[in-house]
Amino acid sequence: MISSKIRKQFVAIVGEENVFDSESSLLNYSYDATPGFQARPHCVLAPRNVFEVSEIVKICNANRIPIVPRGSGTNLSASTTPSKGGIVLLFKNMNEIIEIDEANLTMTVQPGVITQRIIEAAEAKGLFYPPDPGSVNISQIGGNISTNAGGLHGLKYGVTRDYVIGLQVVLPNGEIIETGGKLAKDVAGYDLTRLFVGAEGTLGVITGAVLKLIPKPEATKTMLVLFEDLETSAKAVSAIIENRIIPATLEFLDQATVRVVEDFAQIGLPTDAGAVLLIEQDGPKEIVERDTERMAEICMETGAMDVQVAQTPEEAYELTSARRTALSALSRMKPTTILEDATVPRSKIAEMVAIINDIAKKYELTVCTFGHAGDGNLHPTCLTDARDKEEMERVDAAFKEIFEEAVRLGGTITGEHGVGEMKLPYLSLKAGEAGVEAMRNIKFALDPNAIMNPGKMFTAKQQR
Ligand SMILES: Cc1cc2nc3c(=O)[nH]c(=O)nc-3n(C[C@H](O)[C@H](O)[C@H](O)COP(=O)(O)OP(=O)(O)OC[C@H]3O[C@@H](n4cnc5c(N)ncnc54)[C@H](O)[C@@H]3O)c2cc1C
Repeated sequence: MISSKIRKQFVAIVGEENVFDSESSLLNYSYDATPGFQARPHCVLAPRNVFEVSEIVKICNANRIPIVPRGSGTNLSASTTPSKGGIVLLFKNMNEIIEIDEANLTMTVQPGVITQRIIEAAEAKGLFYPPDPGSVNISQIGGNISTNAGGLHGLKYGVTRDYVIGLQVVLPNGEIIETGGKLAKDVAGYDLTRLFVGAEGTLGVITGAVLKLIPKPEATKTMLVLFEDLETSAKAVSAIIENRIIPATLEFLDQATVRVVEDFAQIGLPTDAGAVLLIEQDGPKEIVERDTERMAEICMETGAMDVQVAQTPEEAYELTSARRTALSALSRMKPTTILEDATVPRSKIAEMVAIINDIAKKYELTVCTFGHAGDGNLHPTCLTDARDKEEMERVDAAFKEIFEEAVRLGGTITGEHGVGEMKLPYLSLKAGEAGVEAMRNIKFALDPNAIMNPGKMFTAKQQR
C-alpha cells in the first residue's frame, strides 16, 4: 500500500502526470513477457531525470517500499513482475541518446532508449553496436544491460556486457554513482560496471550508460544451409569453428520450428529439412567472400543437403527476420509458449538437443528448439496451455530435467534471459550454495532493506 502522504511526495517529485495508479495501469504493469507470473504494483512512476530517481529511491528506502525498474517488459524470466507490490519505475521520460563521441567511439545514453535506435544511430555514423537481441525493436538499453542481453551477433562480437564501459547508477540508498567511463582501461578498484550488468534491477537503478562502438563492417553475406538432421548440422558448426572461422551469426532452427516459421512468414523456407543453419559473415569484402565460400564447402563436406546464399540485401534480411520471428511464430500455436535458454558448451549442442527431445517425449510435451548454435545457447520452447494444471506440472518437471542436464554437460540454466522469479529455484544448480551465498552477501551489502526488485534471483528462504 502507498499511503496518500507518500503518493503526495511522489507527485511532488515527478508531477501528477507521471504517477499512474489507476486500475488499468496497475494491471498493465502486473506482468511481463513471461507466462504464468503476475502481481500488481501499488503505483507506477515515470521519473524525468536521475535526481528524481534518486529522490524516489530515498523515499522507498526509508519506507521499505519495493522498487521494480522496468524497461519494455520483454524479459522471459519474470524479472519485472512486482511480486512484492511497491512501485514500478518506467524510463519513458529518460530515452535520449545524449552523445555519440566519434573520437572515443562511444555512445552515451539514457536507460529508456530502444535498442534498435542505438544500432541505427551508430550506423548513421558508420559505426556498429553489435548486441542485437531478438526483441531489438522493443527492448530498452536499461533492460538489455540489466539482463546482459545476447543476440544473433554473440558468437563473434560478444554480448551487452562487452559494450558497456560506464554506468550511472542510483544505489538503493539514493546515492548516485558513476562507474567506468569513456575509457579503454580502468582498474580503479572493483569492476562495479560489470557488477551492475546482468543484476536484473536487484542492486540499483541504471540511469545512464556509456556504450562502446566499433567500426561498421564493410560487407555482409548471409546463407541458409539445410541438413537432414540436427546431428549433422551440429557437426558443421564444430567444423566451421575448428577451421578457425568465426561467423558473425550462426543460428539454428529444428524442423518443427522451421515449419512453424514458414507457415508464419511465408518466405520459402525448406520445411522438409531436419535442421537449418543461418550463417552470416561480415568484415572486409574479400574476407567475407572467402569465408562464405569456405563455410559452404565445410557444410557440404559434413553432409549438408543444400546451401542457399542470399543474393541481395533484401533476401538476407528475410532470412535473418525468419530467425527473429521464431518466437512470435511459435506463440501462435498454443495458448502458452514457454521459451527457455539452457546453454551448453558449443561442442555439446547435438547431445543437448537429443536430450531435450527425449525429455519432451518422456513428459509428452511439444518442444521446438532453435537458438544461437555458435554460442551453445539453446531455446527449447514448450507449446502448452497454462490452464491445464496437470500438463503444467509435466512442463515444470521437464524443464527441471533440462536444466540439470545442461549443467551436467558443463552448461548453465540461462545463457541470456536471467534468473528473475522464474529460475530462482535453479540458481544453486549452476552457482552452488556457496556461490549463491556470495551473491546474496553482495545484494544485502548494497541493499540492506531489500527494496530493489525483491522476490527475484533468490528464493524466499534466501531473502531477508
Ligand atoms: C521476441 C523476444 C525475443 C527475445 N530475444 C532475446 C535475445 O535474442 N537475447 C536476449 O538476451 N534476450 C532476448 N529476449 C528477452 C528480453 O528481450 C531481454 O531480456 C531484454 O534485455 C529485456 O529488455 P527490456 O527493456 O524489455 O527489459 P525488462 O524486461 O523491462 O527488464 C528486464 C530486467 O531489467 C531490469 N531493468 C530494466 N531497466 C532497468 C534500469 N534502468 N535499471 C535497473 N534495472 C533495470 C528489470 O528490473 C528486469 O530485471 C527476447 C524477448 C522476446 C519477447
